[in-house]
Amino acid sequence: MPFLEIHDVRVNYGEVEALRGATLSVNEGETVAIVGANGAGKTTLINSISGLNRLSSGSIMFEGQPLGDLKPHRLPELGIVQVPEGRRLFARLSVDDNLQLGAYHKRARRDSVKGREEIYRLLPVLQDRKDQLAGTLSGGQQQMLAIGRALMAQPRLLLLDEPSLGLAPIVVTELFSIIARIASEGTAVLLVEQNVSRALALSNRAYALQQGTVIMEGTGQELLNDPGLPAAMLGIA
Ligand code: ATP
Repeated sequence: MPFLEIHDVRVNYGEVEALRGATLSVNEGETVAIVGANGAGKTTLINSISGLNRLSSGSIMFEGQPLGDLKPHRLPELGIVQVPEGRRLFARLSVDDNLQLGAYHKRARRDSVKGREEIYRLLPVLQDRKDQLAGTLSGGQQQMLAIGRALMAQPRLLLLDEPSLGLAPIVVTELFSIIARIASEGTAVLLVEQNVSRALALSNRAYALQQGTVIMEGTGQELLNDPGLPAAMLGIA
């Protein structure tokens, strides 16, 4: 059965057509990148999967079930978990408490102690700061915490919206290696990134979005090597 299938999705904000018939899919365990310039519709797409946007038409199915019928808070139970752009941490709670809050549905709550141990193993930078208030972490540490909190919900499909935004290059390298590790352990990842070359290098497959539609798709390497990929997307224009 297909894992995530997005078919001919349109989303409008008033007069603005943010998605104009986007069609794409993610297979189980696969890492898929969505690349595109500012305003191409990437965030709108992610927010449409997680139920934060209403579709004007089209469908989004997860394992054969239309997601449009569900309330957004039901998605983590199915295994769909989003790390939102801008992280949205609880600044005045500790690292440990932020992680604990990621395990809010029943399946995750049951395993939350083991879950935290695994997160600290994956992200040792958090272990060293487990009692520190989230708001006092550096930008890179906050992004790691946002990812760690999402992992506490035991995702089968992790939605990452611009995780490298605003981070120093050395932290970006670390972040991408963590995403690669998460993917290698079998979690499917849908990654929206402006850091196009790195995102493509990491991904099994990728889609380029322009003005709300898919203009190219292929393996990460194919897009990376395709002279048709608009130079602006690679940040070299
Ligand atoms: P960015 O990287 O800049 O976030 P993006 O590819 O994620 O770009 P979206 O944020 O999805 O693009 O925006 C797609 C289009 O929809 C843009 O033209 C944007 O200006 C518009 N848009 C996004 N959110 C809203 C909104 N709440 N109201 C009106 N227009 C919006």
